[in-house]
Amino acid sequence: MPSPQKLSALIVGAGFAGCVVARELAEAGYTVHIIDKRPHIAGNAYDETDIHGVLVHRYGPHIFHTNGERIFEYLSRFTEWRPYEHRVRSVVDGRHYPFPINRDTLNLLYDLDLDEAGAQAYFECVREPRDQVRTSEDVVLNSVGRDLYNKFFLNYTRKQWGLEPSELKAGVAARIPVRTNTDDRYFTDTFQAMPLHGYTKMFEAMLRHPNITARLGVDFESVRGCFEQDHTVYTGPIDAYFNYCFGPLPYRSLRFEHEHLAGVAQYQETGTVNYPNDHAYTRITEFKHLTGQKHTGTSIVREYPQVEGEPYYPIPREENEALFKRYEALAKAEPNVTFVGRLAQYRYYNMDQVVGAALASARTLISARL
Ligand code: FAD
Ligand code: UDP
Repeated sequence: MPSPQKLSALIVGAGFAGCVVARELAEAGYTVHIIDKRPHIAGNAYDETDIHGVLVHRYGPHIFHTNGERIFEYLSRFTEWRPYEHRVRSVVDGRHYPFPINRDTLNLLYDLDLDEAGAQAYFECVREPRDQVRTSEDVVLNSVGRDLYNKFFLNYTRKQWGLEPSELKAGVAARIPVRTNTDDRYFTDTFQAMPLHGYTKMFEAMLRHPNITARLGVDFESVRGCFEQDHTVYTGPIDAYFNYCFGPLPYRSLRFEHEHLAGVAQYQETGTVNYPNDHAYTRITEFKHLTGQKHTGTSIVREYPQVEGEPYYPIPREENEALFKRYEALAKAEPNVTFVGRLAQYRYYNMDQVVGAALASARTLISARL
């Protein structure tokens, strides 16, 4: 058996999954070679300064939040943080409401004056109880009833996924809580913060290790079989790895429309504003809220969901998961390859969950000396 120092790994994809595994293996003495087909590191969390000098997220807003202290501590090795709690407004009939739905949303929308118990009673009265909560439609109707479903969820979900909420698993809409208090934060996790100098800088620090070399603009397909690594860690789409042998797995894509507004200090009241019922885009994000940057102008991004394009979201449906299971069976039988990340595991993972999955994969590899 070769000594641990001599082990080598090829890592495909320089997003959260790939970079965390790369760093862990490098520290364990592996020689690590990481590639990405894009010309940059950081995957979908990539941020850069636009030509106007504003730090923007090229692939849509990325807000870090986690309850995992271990994960937050891990990333804190590579960045300082700026505390940030994300807030969202949703526009219904031209008025802006706190979202997720809370007591203020109800009071504003229906001209009520409910206290916490009153809000609880209101939801009890309007909800459509479901014995089994299987779909995203069930989740919302079961908790807030038909009118709030129609106003805030139905059309947003149709736009975002090109599907009815009844065609999506419960977990999609269950990401959004319903509140009887007036907390208007999007997330309530213990740790909510943005990398002080941006995500890309954090990834640069992660990859800064003598055992790691990185090559960008390199597609795995063009180098497949060219390296003599002991182990491969693959973080791209799992169906692509197996040449789509069971047919393509459905992913949802987005088109990002970035815009700079010169001389506009602030465009909107919160980091993100959702448009469930109007426009072809789902939401607008203004980056200065997220980053705290001071600038005389501001940069925003609109997200337009679409079928074609980069695979951003696995689509959580029973039939897609059944297809994924067939690929997963091949993956388990593939010698010396680990599949990890949002695309390789076909899971609607947040960033912290990917970090957790990547740390677990690295631990398994290192302890087995693979
Ligand atoms: P990726 O970041 O997709 O990295 C995979 C990398 O593999 C990519 O860089 C890709 O180019 C590369 N690759 C693929 N195929 C190949 C190949 N054949 N050869 C070489 N390289 C290849 N999470 C949060 O926690 N908070 C948020 O606010 C949040 N907002 C999001 C907003 C949007 C619009 C999207 C799409 C996602 C958001 N996420 C958010 C989720 C977050 O982006 C993911 O959890 C995380 O980036 C996944 O990391 P990953 O490494 O698994 O995948
Ligand atoms: N959602 C909705 N209305 C909204 C926001 C979200 O119906 O205003 C639903 C929609 O189906 C969306 C899901 O809740 O895909 C999860 O929303 P989240 O903001 O977590 O999506 P992400 O940030 O991952 O795109």
